[in-house]
Amino acid sequence: MAEGSSRLVVLGSSGAWPGAGHACSGYVLEHQGFRVVLDLGYGTAVRLLDHLGSHAGDGVDAVVISHAHADHMGDLHAFFRARHFGAPAAPAIPTYAPQQVRDQLWEVQSIDGPDDGAMDRVFTWHQLPSAAYPVGPWRLESAGLPHYVTNAGVRLVSDDLVVAYTGDTGPSPALAELGRDADLFVVECTDYTQLAEPKKEQLHLNARTAAEAARDAGAKRLLLTHFWPGVDRERTAREVAQTYDGEVLVASEGMVIAL
Ligand SMILES: [Zn+2]
Repeated sequence: MAEGSSRLVVLGSSGAWPGAGHACSGYVLEHQGFRVVLDLGYGTAVRLLDHLGSHAGDGVDAVVISHAHADHMGDLHAFFRARHFGAPAAPAIPTYAPQQVRDQLWEVQSIDGPDDGAMDRVFTWHQLPSAAYPVGPWRLESAGLPHYVTNAGVRLVSDDLVVAYTGDTGPSPALAELGRDADLFVVECTDYTQLAEPKKEQLHLNARTAAEAARDAGAKRLLLTHFWPGVDRERTAREVAQTYDGEVLVASEGMVIAL
């Protein structure tokens, strides 16, 4: 990773389950030579290891998991195994997540027997949402957002860059603060409105509510992601542009966004 290059790499852009050609939520944020992984949903681990060029998952400085649904952490266990078996003597990776994320990971891992400390050798656990943490060049701020389970929206602030990420959320005034003046606001846009029988949904966003969140935040760029499989993403983006004046990006696997 070049010291001077700042970028976000999309590992996956699908909500709920991985669509054909799409993994679920996962992103890599690289800034000032420091690499943060944001969510590791279904199908993201192989893409992360490809990106790192390491079977052992070497090169990750911190992990942030927004919430304990498997489309955001299903491959955290794959990454755990990469570290546990592939780099057993490596230092633990600072990991920031709601308690339920650790609990869910343990549900998968515990089939191997009583706790032998591996979970804490691979990761050092820090609670979200929480007061701010220093994380490499960033100040990691977080806010609880409305979802079925505890979901931490995160805001990473450095000297010269602000990147915010909603995880999964319904409409909330907190979104405007989370993404305030962000250089890049990564916003879930599940967009049930395109389904033949749209669900009545208060705990996800659609084109209108995602656009309102980015507009109210004054975000400079908006990355739409976490689309329900089958959603016409370009249609969603066109609808978003009716409400939000900034640059609208549509997430896809392998996409690299220079920051
Ligand atoms: Zn989700």
